Amino acid sequence: MAVSDHVDFNTFMEGVKRRNAYQPEFVQAVQEVAEDIFDFIQDKEEYHAQQILRRIAEPDRVVSFRVCWEDDKGNIRVQRGWRVQNNNAIGPYKGGIRFHPSVTESVLKFLAFEQTFKNALTGLPMGGGKGGSNFNPKGKSVREIMRFCQSFMTELYRHIGADIDVPAGDIGVGGREIGYMFGQYKRITNEFTGVLTGKGLEWGGSLIRTEATGYGAVYFLENMLATRGDGVAGKTAVISGSGNVATHAAEKIVQLGGKVLTLSDSGGFIHDPDGITQDKIDWVKTHKTHRRGRIEDYCAEFKGATFHAGQTPWGVKCELALPCATQNELLGDDARTLVANGCIAVSEGANMPTDLEGVHVFKAAKLLYAPGKASNAGGVAVSGLEMSQNSARRSWKEDELQQMLKDIMSGIHARCLEYGQQGGGYCDYVRGANIGGFKKVADAMLAFGVV
Ligand code: GLU
Repeated sequence: MAVSDHVDFNTFMEGVKRRNAYQPEFVQAVQEVAEDIFDFIQDKEEYHAQQILRRIAEPDRVVSFRVCWEDDKGNIRVQRGWRVQNNNAIGPYKGGIRFHPSVTESVLKFLAFEQTFKNALTGLPMGGGKGGSNFNPKGKSVREIMRFCQSFMTELYRHIGADIDVPAGDIGVGGREIGYMFGQYKRITNEFTGVLTGKGLEWGGSLIRTEATGYGAVYFLENMLATRGDGVAGKTAVISGSGNVATHAAEKIVQLGGKVLTLSDSGGFIHDPDGITQDKIDWVKTHKTHRRGRIEDYCAEFKGATFHAGQTPWGVKCELALPCATQNELLGDDARTLVANGCIAVSEGANMPTDLEGVHVFKAAKLLYAPGKASNAGGVAVSGLEMSQNSARRSWKEDELQQMLKDIMSGIHARCLEYGQQGGGYCDYVRGANIGGFKKVADAMLAFGVV
């Protein structure tokens, strides 16, 4: 076989930038992966010759569609919806749906790309996809949200299926929205299948799916700390976000004997030096999810806490940091502040919350730093278990699922160590996750030939 021309990292990234102009999030996600993969494949001719990374970084397809709905005043509203099917080499496309005004094709392409590696790391047979809309659920009535979800599914249904593409929730999409979308899918197709995950327990959902992302991020943190003979107990933690991932990460930190100091939303962060205990977390869950309130109201409820408008919590001194809000919420300077303040471990509950500069700061400081594609994989992992339960038409018990989640997170940690161990007791988890995820998908692609 002829030895083909090898494209170097810079030429590859120039091409990615050229082909994806005005898609900065997607380019960022590809660069973070490519930095490690080029190193790994330098002596692996077949990955070069078969253009594997180039192919993973080009979505199988991007479906874009109009979503038309009527608001409570009778106005006709038009939004854009997407489904990005990135790669199905190892299983049906799998990944959440995000409803947020910041959603663009670039954001969904980065999320679908990341999801491909994350899903591979779980060890379960799931490809990578992501979808969503720039629809803003904030301030909308329940009936408006229902009408939007129904309209969204009226187009999406033709692109998904239990063995084709299985969406779930993400920012702005929880159990209620999954219910409306599943109801519409069932109505159109007359089929009751495991076509969505994150379903209600009465209609095919799995126990612990709600808790899984946040709990999983803390299990991963425990695994990292254990490599240094340490643990979460007795440590202070700064957490951003106050949604499903953040509140369950906080809950698990507290259960393991740690102290949570902060939570946040788009308005700012609250700092509670006494610690955010389980009863306070329960209040946040109810206030944010059911009442759709603001995190700043926490300070009126719990004395001693302070609200910091328009700020992120990374300046609060801590040993553990868990970014659980959204992409690019932790920048280079925030990373430097965390390191200077003695932070020893970072476990990402959100997808790509740290920008490239921040990633480089954490790597240079040799922190225990877990990228989201490894540490937040617990959510999609339990989605994978929900798919298995749906296929078998049965439900597993809570303790079985808890154990499976713990085992999957330990498995991901072990895979990261396998490819990320740098000697001197330091593991580059970003490198480990990128290579671990890539290798599985790449080897499946090699088996399929040029398709
Ligand atoms: N949206 C979640 C993620 O980022 C979960 C996806 C799923 O369960 O399919 O991984």
